[in-house]
Amino acid sequence: MIVMKFGGTSVGSGQRIAQLGRIVAAVAAERNAPPVVVVSAMSGVTDSLVRAAQTAAAGDGRTYTLVRDELQQRHEQAIADCGIGPEPARGLRAEVTGLLDWFETLCQSMHTLGELTPRGLDVVSGLGERLSARLTVAALLGQDIPAQMVEATEIIVTTDRFGGAQPLFEETTARARARVLPLVEAGIAPVVTGFIAATIDGVPTTLGRGGSDYSATILARCLPADEVWIWTDVDGVMTADPRIVPEARTLPGISFGEVAELSYFGAKVLHPQTIAPIVDAGIPVRVLNSLHPERPGTLVSQRVVGAPVVKGITAIRDLSLITVEGRGMQGVPGVAGRVFSAVARSGANILMITQSSSEQSICFVVRTVDARAAVDALQAEFDRELGRQDIHRIGRDDEASIVAVVGAGMRGRPGIAAAVFGALAEAEINIISIAQGSSEYNLSLVVTNGDVDLAVRAIHHRFQLAEALATPDPEQEGVLR
Ligand code: ASP
Ligand code: MG
Repeated sequence: MIVMKFGGTSVGSGQRIAQLGRIVAAVAAERNAPPVVVVSAMSGVTDSLVRAAQTAAAGDGRTYTLVRDELQQRHEQAIADCGIGPEPARGLRAEVTGLLDWFETLCQSMHTLGELTPRGLDVVSGLGERLSARLTVAALLGQDIPAQMVEATEIIVTTDRFGGAQPLFEETTARARARVLPLVEAGIAPVVTGFIAATIDGVPTTLGRGGSDYSATILARCLPADEVWIWTDVDGVMTADPRIVPEARTLPGISFGEVAELSYFGAKVLHPQTIAPIVDAGIPVRVLNSLHPERPGTLVSQRVVGAPVVKGITAIRDLSLITVEGRGMQGVPGVAGRVFSAVARSGANILMITQSSSEQSICFVVRTVDARAAVDALQAEFDRELGRQDIHRIGRDDEASIVAVVGAGMRGRPGIAAAVFGALAEAEINIISIAQGSSEYNLSLVVTNGDVDLAVRAIHHRFQLAEALATPDPEQEGVLR
């Protein structure tokens, strides 16, 4: 069984929804069983819904009505374009209107109350999936593909942490199996609303922004499925951001661990939380382009594929490097503990840490927006030491970026760091600080914001990633021909 999720752009218009139907039909024919389909809202819709609710609660009585009109138009256009007959189109328009009436009523009451609770926001922000799933079912039926709508609120059970609820696997497994398996066995494709869920008492929740991927992996684990396919608008996981490195390539395979490192360091790929439900179960994920379903995409699995050694290069910008320096720190236990406790109390998240072995300085990196609070907290904590000159400086360097080089094959392999540093030296880029996690899956370097793009390109070039992946592996076939 395959669980396939279609992201916002893959359901972004009537034409795209019709294309979704062709993909589902091809997979169903090839595998002799329909996939379980999970859909996102049409691209941009969730943002509009959230904006409408927030402005309504803030006293703006107009924006939500404009959003309503815009959503009505957008969905009606999609109904006109998704290739269904006049009769089902009429029914569908009535359903869309009903849901949007409900949306307006909700916003109106937020406007009257002047209040938006996280619980209320989940009800409103989840409407986009309820709309897109209805269109998807109609389009599938229009292509003679048996399909049925399944509201995720009936099958995915979560905690009541609104805006970022956590799945309760036992309850979800029972409900999902009871509702979804009979449909699949009868040859009917279940179409499940992504992103939304409900508490055990049936109160609607959401899984957090971008949560439709999470819906897919939760279902895959519970049913269980053999694979998860994420249909998106790029060819898969890439070696670098193609806007920075035009010759960036799609990776045929990558491990869960590698993808987690890439996402931690800023690449917009599968979030570690998203893949958590399926990692232990060993259920692989394919990332595929719904505009080019014949392309192989990227297979994300437990397996570490050897080549290329470096899988990806990524960057996070607008960071600050904070340095605590002083001779009085040497051999004094507890200084690092106090540094990081103070920073934690300030609310700043630390992205990278280095300490020189002379123990005379500790450096770490936070987002620039958090830097001031972190430095203030350190100054308060080390007031006495600063007075005695045991610590002589708490420095802050803005305009820093982290460049991360990721690949499990780097582990225990000499020469990788040398190649990275060589590439940067040749490009005359100054490295401010370096860290390597003990997993050896990634090497992180701090450079100035102005050098980031050049650094990513230089490293990509040095490892010849474009050349290494220029010709697709003949063993790696597209999922659809
Ligand atoms: N529609 C939701 C969002 O935009 C969930 C998703 O697209 O995955 O956050
Ligand atoms: Mg989305």
